[in-house]
Amino acid sequence: MTSKLTFLYSFLEKTAQTIYPNVCLQCDAEGENGIDLCQRCFQNLPWIEFCCQKCALPLTSDDAKICGACTTQKYFFDQTIAPFQFEGFIRDAIYKFKFNQKLNQGKLLAHLFLCCLENREYSLPDVIIPVPLYKKRLRKRGYNQALEVAKIINKKLNCDLSYTDIYRNRVTSAQMELPAKQRYNNVKNAFSLVRNSKDLKNKHICIVDDVMTTGNTVNEVAKCLKKAGAKKVDVWCIARVHI
Ligand SMILES: [Zn+2]
Ligand SMILES: [Zn+2]
Repeated sequence: MTSKLTFLYSFLEKTAQTIYPNVCLQCDAEGENGIDLCQRCFQNLPWIEFCCQKCALPLTSDDAKICGACTTQKYFFDQTIAPFQFEGFIRDAIYKFKFNQKLNQGKLLAHLFLCCLENREYSLPDVIIPVPLYKKRLRKRGYNQALEVAKIINKKLNCDLSYTDIYRNRVTSAQMELPAKQRYNNVKNAFSLVRNSKDLKNKHICIVDDVMTTGNTVNEVAKCLKKAGAKKVDVWCIARVHI
């Protein structure tokens, strides 16, 4: 995987140009190619090498295309892309981005996602929809981390970014803090489409989120979108929790 990663690192130069000197957010060395991460730390990120094509759960080889759970469970989304396991630098960066107002960490994470996308086969969606926060949480945090990532991704891909068509209709707890059994009910029917939403019929939509834990949250968003007539719903997130 090392030579592939060297290539990917050089690719970043095209996507993440910045005008200030880049400093690695992991080790303080000089960052290269327009991002705040040095080549060594880039190569040591918790990349997911093989994963389930449906839910991005890390697998030990590429013998199976989908994981055991996906052979029995019905998801409303069609495919998931998640470059990283939720551990090490990626986990720390997501926490800082989400809970400590460190937007530069989010910017780096979005560029790393774009870098992974470049190396994948994917079809460009018509619409990109970040997972919405509940209004009180949004007010408290000041920003929606999924929207911040989606904005950077969309700047490069130039799709239709929509963050007002779907909303979280009630308070939910963070999935990661809940025992597995409660996660399903925590987010069940937690998302609704606004009354005058744009026409999503026959659209290919990408849901963007920071972390995918069980997949229940994005599945609920996908359910809403499929009900509205979307023909294909993919999930793009930075990291996948290995449950
Ligand atoms: Zn470094
Ligand atoms: Zn799966």
